[in-house]
Amino acid sequence: MDELDTCQHTLEQFKKSLECYINQSYIFVNIDTALKMIREKSEQKFAVVTFDDVPLDAYEKAVPVLLSMQIPFTFFITTGYIGTEGFMTEAQLKKLDNQELCTIGAHTKSHPMLRKVSNSFEELKESKEILERLLGHPVDYLAYPFGRQSSISHKVMKQAEKAGYKCAFGTIDATINDLSSKSLYYLPRIVRK
Ligand SMILES: [Zn+2]
Repeated sequence: MDELDTCQHTLEQFKKSLECYINQSYIFVNIDTALKMIREKSEQKFAVVTFDDVPLDAYEKAVPVLLSMQIPFTFFITTGYIGTEGFMTEAQLKKLDNQELCTIGAHTKSHPMLRKVSNSFEELKESKEILERLLGHPVDYLAYPFGRQSSISHKVMKQAEKAGYKCAFGTIDATINDLSSKSLYYLPRIVRK
């Protein structure tokens, strides 16, 4: 199978998994709406699509699919990757940010294992500020790099709140329920590669 075939196969799978949620009566919402639905304990099943880091591939291949299906999505950006090989440029990021369906969130500056570094607060705060300067509006959401429990501590979660984020996502492989929604600074996500 050549590269193009592999890619189309992956995209096809991506589309299928989105359709699968729709067929199971989920609605796709942005994070703002999801937080509102969590607060209101909505009965409606909902899903949020997010990407981390974010490789250029996602911008070039997944975004057209999401736009054509009118599905909101969030890109969590590692600011140190912007403009480097295989990642989006500032111009691409700004263009994407103009899409109503797109939310830009932060994913630190250098993608460290936050509980292991001494500058975790700076990583959280400065990546938010860099994106806000670039995009000209508040950046409210965060995804922790290596979002497992081993890389995040209570201290890091407090720092995320202090840095001004409204909520933060890890990669605990679970759906949001009554228990997990109690900590807006460690919301679970199901990982698909
Ligand atoms: Zn990452």
